[in-house]
Amino acid sequence: TDADKGIVIPDDWPGYPLDLFSFPEHYSEDLECVYIPHGVIMDRTERLARNIMDDLGDHDIVVLCVLKGGYQFCADLVDCIKVLCRNSNKTLPMRVDFIRLKSYLNDQSTQVLHIEGAENLSALSGKNVLIVEAIVDTGKTMKTLLDHVEAFRPKMIKVAGLLVKQVPSGTGYLPDYVGFEIPNRFVVGYALDYNEYFRDLNHICVISDRGKQKYKI
Ligand code: 5GP
Repeated sequence: TDADKGIVIPDDWPGYPLDLFSFPEHYSEDLECVYIPHGVIMDRTERLARNIMDDLGDHDIVVLCVLKGGYQFCADLVDCIKVLCRNSNKTLPMRVDFIRLKSYLNDQSTQVLHIEGAENLSALSGKNVLIVEAIVDTGKTMKTLLDHVEAFRPKMIKVAGLLVKQVPSGTGYLPDYVGFEIPNRFVVGYALDYNEYFRDLNHICVISDRGKQKYKI
């Protein structure tokens, strides 16, 4: 259904002018526009939390946060689920675990994917696992991670992805819960980085050419 793709941001969406929002002064030259304001991210996350509760409520789950980019989304999603648990008769006992992946240099996906913290995933055996990832681009990272997690024989695996890119070359992989489907542009902020910069930006923004040059390795 349409809801599976989340909020679809069209190809010609120009974003909002930067000066309509506040953001860290040190990035004033490095951004093109505010693509998804922080408040909209939070509102969408609140709804994803409800969908997750509807599907998984009364089960025990292990939330597997994919670092580093996924930390903010994971923290906010878990917070939203906690609020729902406090204010309804449903419960969703959660554990939170972390895994670290790295595949990007500058704004290009590299072939090699490093998984750190993957050794001790035996705790996932027989559990309901919710993988929380900030962005799915070609889907290669998620496919590798899913193969890896499946090897530990969890009872169930669901994936929540805040952003999914419309990439023709992609694997067509769609997470179970999607925040936004976005055009093929490189975005930063809300814990998404460019060579470790921009994690301290609350909105999701498009980086400017100047920003790309400035923080290039
Ligand atoms: P995939 O394997 O799906 O092509 O790549 C997924 C990974 O690439 C994500 O986990 C993320 O680290 C990185 N990535 C892909 N697109 C973007 C983007 O627009 N901005 C940032 N900051 N990282 C991205």
